Amino acid sequence: MQHRVLVLGAGYAGLTAARRLSTLLRGTGTEIVLVNDTPNFIERIRLHQLAAGQDLPRHRLADLLAGTGVRVRVARVAAVDVDRRTVLTDAGELGYGTLVYALGSAAAAMPGAEAHAWNAGSPGAAVRLRDRLARAGEGDRVLVVGGGLTGLEIAAEIAESRPGLAVALATAGGLGDWLVPGAREHLRRGFDRLGIDVLEGVRVDRFTAAGAVAREGVLVPAQVSIAATGFAANPIAAAAGLDTDDCGRVPVDRAMRSLSHPDVDVIGDAAWAEGPGGRALRMSCSSGMPTAWIAAGHIAARLTSRRPPRLRIRYFHQTISIGRADAVVQFVTADDRPKRTYLTGKAASRYKEALCRIAVWSFAHDLPARRAAAVPGDALRPA
Ligand SMILES: Cc1cc2nc3c(=O)[nH]c(=O)nc-3n(C[C@H](O)[C@H](O)[C@H](O)COP(=O)(O)OP(=O)(O)OC[C@H]3O[C@@H](n4cnc5c(N)ncnc54)[C@H](O)[C@@H]3O)c2cc1C
Repeated sequence: MQHRVLVLGAGYAGLTAARRLSTLLRGTGTEIVLVNDTPNFIERIRLHQLAAGQDLPRHRLADLLAGTGVRVRVARVAAVDVDRRTVLTDAGELGYGTLVYALGSAAAAMPGAEAHAWNAGSPGAAVRLRDRLARAGEGDRVLVVGGGLTGLEIAAEIAESRPGLAVALATAGGLGDWLVPGAREHLRRGFDRLGIDVLEGVRVDRFTAAGAVAREGVLVPAQVSIAATGFAANPIAAAAGLDTDDCGRVPVDRAMRSLSHPDVDVIGDAAWAEGPGGRALRMSCSSGMPTAWIAAGHIAARLTSRRPPRLRIRYFHQTISIGRADAVVQFVTADDRPKRTYLTGKAASRYKEALCRIAVWSFAHDLPARRAAAVPGDALRPA
């Protein structure tokens, strides 16, 4: 019987895995099926642009994977039955020989957020935020809670696109306090230029209809509150009985196999994988796409006589867009600590834009493993 590799989720990780598997398993008669809830690849790293009212480029999965033999099934996954090796979707049940779980993540839950806050963590949420902002009146206060990479990008994008709104950012620490001084100062100047009110040392506990409530019980009033306090992995893995951490991520081994269920490969935001320096990989495409390469290599090795890949993941940069024409690119060590080097301004903005485009380009092209390191920002290195 034909062996079926079922890849769940066509985000950065799932799409990379499907493309890579199609290359590595060419001619073996293996069927590769990619299941996704939409027919298009959505550039999640541009969702702050969507929330701010911009149109995103449209990429049909069928076009990106044309000629690869990967079958795209548009269906919503409801559950995984690891004992029966089946996946239940809204379009019926699918059996598998090998399962690659890449259902990604969405905004992390926070008290009051569901009722009183918006977010840009998933396409649906970003559209709801866009619609809410469209109804916001001149001078309304938009409060972004969370000073991480995503919160910074959301605040800047909205402030630039909607100068009539009073955008504020609440962060538990200082603005960009992990960046080197020059990069941090550039970020602050960018936020000043956009008129963003930065509230530092404010640790928000919960949201109410009136705004965000800080740990000390102080209300930070806002007409529109936006939660950007991190991501939580899709709950389907936990519901299937796989061990997960408190963010819903599945702990995996070096081949990206679930520790509790080694016959399930887990990649991207859904996986808790040990990165350089023994720290968990950050939920990001810069590490999620390499996890897909690693999983695909090991799966191909199991199904054929190939040698498993000897690749390790390392970080290269952190990128923060400050609207459409400015950005900060902080170069980092293999284990994600800032180096002295950074880029700012138009050059950084072009760099970030190029990364977004290269990611999409890579889905439509085969890359030999040794070339991966030549792609700017690709986090794979030979071990
Ligand atoms: C606003 C924003 C900006 C970001 N900027 C950056 C950045 O600059 N750099 C960076 O490295 N990272 C960035 N990230 C993080 C990055 O987007 C994620 O880490 C990355 O998307 C994870 O890839 P993934 O493939 O694991 O999951 P996802 O990209 O979330 O893909 C999951 C896929 O599964 C599908 N899916 C989900 N549930 C189901 C279901 N039940 N049935 C069928 N299909 C389903 C989804 O439609 C999607 O196609 C950003 C995130 C956000 C929200």
